[in-house]
Amino acid sequence: MVDQSVRLGRIFGIPVGINWSVVLVLWLLAWSLAQDVFPSVAPGYENWSYWSVAIGSALVFLGSLVLHELGHSLVARRAGVAVRSITLWLFGGVAQFENDTTSPKAEARVAAAGPAVSLALAVLFAVVAEAIFALSLSEVVAVGLVWLSFINGVLAVFNLIPAFPLDGGRVLRAILWHRYQDRIRATLTAAQVGTWFAYGLIGLGVVVFISGPALSGLWFVFLGWFLLTAARGEAFVVTEQAALANRTVREVMSPDPATVPASISVQGFIDEFILRHRHSSFPVVRSDGTVVGLVTLEAVRAVPPDRRAEITLDQIAVPLVQVPVVGPDDPADSLVSLIAAGPVSRALVFEHGDPAGRLVGIVSASDILRVMEGVLIKSS
Ligand SMILES: [Zn+2]
Repeated sequence: MVDQSVRLGRIFGIPVGINWSVVLVLWLLAWSLAQDVFPSVAPGYENWSYWSVAIGSALVFLGSLVLHELGHSLVARRAGVAVRSITLWLFGGVAQFENDTTSPKAEARVAAAGPAVSLALAVLFAVVAEAIFALSLSEVVAVGLVWLSFINGVLAVFNLIPAFPLDGGRVLRAILWHRYQDRIRATLTAAQVGTWFAYGLIGLGVVVFISGPALSGLWFVFLGWFLLTAARGEAFVVTEQAALANRTVREVMSPDPATVPASISVQGFIDEFILRHRHSSFPVVRSDGTVVGLVTLEAVRAVPPDRRAEITLDQIAVPLVQVPVVGPDDPADSLVSLIAAGPVSRALVFEHGDPAGRLVGIVSASDILRVMEGVLIKSS
């Protein structure tokens, strides 16, 4: 979501990046301000005046987005949450944290800090605009400030909608968390509300697309779709954390996985193993019992059919050093990041976590999903 970003620099030690999509949005904003909004509200200026105020306003708006995220970040830091980065993109900013807040109160404060900053900026820009009007200085500059006041106000209000993962939704989660004393249940409920809101936005977008300005309609659909994805993503992550917390690898793994001999040919593997077992990867074992790696169906597919008889499995297996190795009594909550980091989306479980020892299990994403299903069924 926030990849493809360019580093702008650091503020308060927090890396700030900008996604390419922001450049496009800023350009569209400046263009509509210079060509459309400013000339109709404050007529009689040269074209270059409109353009310089428009570009200036767009850049100050970008700064406002940074301040909004900085509001979240600095309050989070005070609550003991490490801030990884701030990225600006299409719909505003995203502050990424290393860890979660530990209490509903802290969560509510962190969530409310961003809209509070935006609201303060809206007031500030309105006051300065008023002063410029009163002193009969540049009208077009004053109009630019009025626009900045308006857009920051919109930003604050939109973010306060109680639809998770918007800021207002996070406040809602904090309230539910306080009431249920259960962060996971609170997140799932808040995410459900966020999902309804997202569907509402998409529905509204479709209606606007058909009846009114089609572009605004598309914008609503896009925004709704983004919120839907974000709400589901957060609910997924929280369920995952809940499923793996206080569990060992042994409770999650598939025990005693089917292994294949290192010396057999790819053709032999296809004939004897693939159809008989429903797995998509197999630990490859030498005759003395040591595991040399993991063979995947993708690797098998990559071997040209005319060479399948001569190439053996140990030649195409992902070597064991590249496969994450865990012990059965290790905590399960590190599995997700381990599996995601490895090249094969699997972790192998060895007795005592020793890769020279006995292989006792294998963990894939579907093992984790199965445990998550169990948690969801239990809490529903
Ligand atoms: Zn925010």
